[in-house]
Amino acid sequence: PNNKGLDWKKAPCRFCGVGCGVLVGVENGKAVAVKGDPKSPVNKGLCCVKGYHSVISMYGKDRLTKPLVRKNGKLVETSMDEALTLIASKMQETIKEHGKDSVSIYGSGQWTIPDGYAASKLFKGCIGTNNVEANARLCMASAVTGFMTSFGIDEPMGCYDDIDHADVFILWGNNMAEMHPVLFSRMLDQRQKRDVKIIDFATRTTRTSMAADKSILFLPQSDLAVANAICYEIIANGWMNKSFVEEYCNFSKGLTDMGYGLEDKYSFNDKPEKINFDDFKAFLEDYTPEKVEKISGVSAKDIKYMARQYGDPNKKVMSLWCMGMNQHSRGTWINNLVYNIHLLTGKISEPGNSPFSLTGQPSACGTVREVGTLTHKLPHGVVNNKKHREFAAKIWDVPAENISPKPSYHTVEMFRALDRGDIRFMWIQVTNPMVTMPKLNRYRDGAKKEGRFIVVSDIYPTPTTDIADVILPSAMWVEREGMFGNSERRTQYFEQMVNPPGESMSDTWQLVEVAKKMGFEKQFYYKEETHVEEIYNEYRKHHDNKKHNLAPLQVLKDNPGMMWPYVDGKPTKWRFNAKYDPACDNGKAYHFYGKPDGKAVIWQRPYEPAAEVPDAEYPYWLNTGRVVEHWHTGSMTRRIPVLHKAMPYAYVELNPADAKRMQIKNGDNVKLTTRRGQIVLPASINERGVPAPMQVFVPFFDENKLINNITLDSFCPISKEPDYKKCAVKVEKA
Ligand code: SF4
Repeated sequence: PNNKGLDWKKAPCRFCGVGCGVLVGVENGKAVAVKGDPKSPVNKGLCCVKGYHSVISMYGKDRLTKPLVRKNGKLVETSMDEALTLIASKMQETIKEHGKDSVSIYGSGQWTIPDGYAASKLFKGCIGTNNVEANARLCMASAVTGFMTSFGIDEPMGCYDDIDHADVFILWGNNMAEMHPVLFSRMLDQRQKRDVKIIDFATRTTRTSMAADKSILFLPQSDLAVANAICYEIIANGWMNKSFVEEYCNFSKGLTDMGYGLEDKYSFNDKPEKINFDDFKAFLEDYTPEKVEKISGVSAKDIKYMARQYGDPNKKVMSLWCMGMNQHSRGTWINNLVYNIHLLTGKISEPGNSPFSLTGQPSACGTVREVGTLTHKLPHGVVNNKKHREFAAKIWDVPAENISPKPSYHTVEMFRALDRGDIRFMWIQVTNPMVTMPKLNRYRDGAKKEGRFIVVSDIYPTPTTDIADVILPSAMWVEREGMFGNSERRTQYFEQMVNPPGESMSDTWQLVEVAKKMGFEKQFYYKEETHVEEIYNEYRKHHDNKKHNLAPLQVLKDNPGMMWPYVDGKPTKWRFNAKYDPACDNGKAYHFYGKPDGKAVIWQRPYEPAAEVPDAEYPYWLNTGRVVEHWHTGSMTRRIPVLHKAMPYAYVELNPADAKRMQIKNGDNVKLTTRRGQIVLPASINERGVPAPMQVFVPFFDENKLINNITLDSFCPISKEPDYKKCAVKVEKA
């Protein structure tokens, strides 16, 4: 397009949790170009390949434009009104026959804030079931439980500006060069200007390792032991910030040997117990660098090196992580352990000293964590707290008794319940679980059973629409109005810039229409032209306090997003530090106000092995993840020709020594077998990434090569987040 004639409008990018500000160029009613918004403090005008090509994903030739209903096994077109009426009546019928906990909604960290809010209000407030979950359970639930257990309140204390202040960046299993490329560029930019170091601590050599100053490889799951060894070294060398720890920290331990969630019905209650510093110090005796070298494969020298970075009083340290730590059968623990390091050294809540958990999706924070679209959550608080239920019910204009005090099913359990028949109706929006669920064969077969009714709202046909009884065409991104909230607590608004194709409708409005048809007109009083503003204004009431206040809509419209807590017309960049955070009110320099006594918790968390470890029959580790070209399951980015050509299909990365031993060359077919099944993929040797010996890596973006058919559905018993990074696999030349 000729850039001159374009009408440029601002939006957050929708292709990852970094939340870059972009300008979308519109010409003749079509979004035709994207550039980085120079005014955005997130990306300062830069984008990655996904961002620059994002608008092309709106115009794939197989866009869904009409609602489809399955009749006698065949999908037939219908009108939107008929489809929405059918959904409402099917839900009512299911509730009548099987009870309200037989209906469910499964959404996404790509839900806008109004989407998630409407879903939560309809299901939790009006229908009265806590069967609300989102795919963010699969990517950041361990970060949430990490925050909650260590600080009593969710989301990072720092912000992206920490990058401009830190001297050392330690990446914990975080391939930022591909997963958070623009943030990684900000780090590299700092290294051009100042003396900063990037340390890549990972199980596989990636583009991030290549760019880092030091790459340290560890054996899967042993990050637990290494983090404890770093704490050991900090204390042994006198690097602990004693006054900080005494003033602002408690010590606790919880249950151990808590299983891996492999049973069908799973409940777990962590029982924290207070301990003292001496107990903690004694516990760490098992984690000397020399002992941990044997568990982790990391040399004692490298463990001491990492500890020295954290311990050096003259260095500011930022730790960053994402799926490597969260998709972990002890995901909550490893989050706690990295906080331990920052708390012991007092390197927290100030510019450059920052434990920073990144999210993958554009609104995993804004929608899933803040609106609270998880079974146990409410926008402000949790369902098992009576006061929180009453508070939400008042804003939702429903009786408080409507909100069930018990969390129901987290994501894996929700799909198990669908398989068993305890759930009969599921509405899936903005996500593709028939590509992403671990141990997928079971959940696909379960969803296809007789007597299940599945509604899928999406923009393209996917393996998930394949199992749908009703498919609703959704409006995508700037075809509708909404907000996302990124990893640094920044809420960003975008307006509708172009019309959605055919009968496509925003997910929010689909929910509002169905709610009205179910008889909840009073609660869903919103008008079509103004519903986003009405919903946002109502939603803000849930967070009307100094700890979480959200900026008014006009502020979001006038700025490239705004961080919360937004207090006295200003964003809060560093929480819990009285210098920056107006919510600190106990007269001390630091106030961890998520906990009743204002103190953060240093947790005693041991090393425990993974749920399934390699053995004689399945001797390799299987690790899965993403690539820079594709957004998650590729349903949008694979329709962008340049990205599809750059990364057309999935592959299996092998260590060159393993490949040589098995006489496998680049491109040869390789058979992977786990206890769940088999898959054949072309070999990739010394290309994008290089796994350590006896490990393989497979990206999950390719719907024609479903690696999740063979992954394991074990999860962290506290966060319920599955471990996609580790299971045992046999590797053979096919
Ligand atoms: Fe979009 Fe993420 Fe790339 Fe930024 S880094 S342009 S938010 S995909």
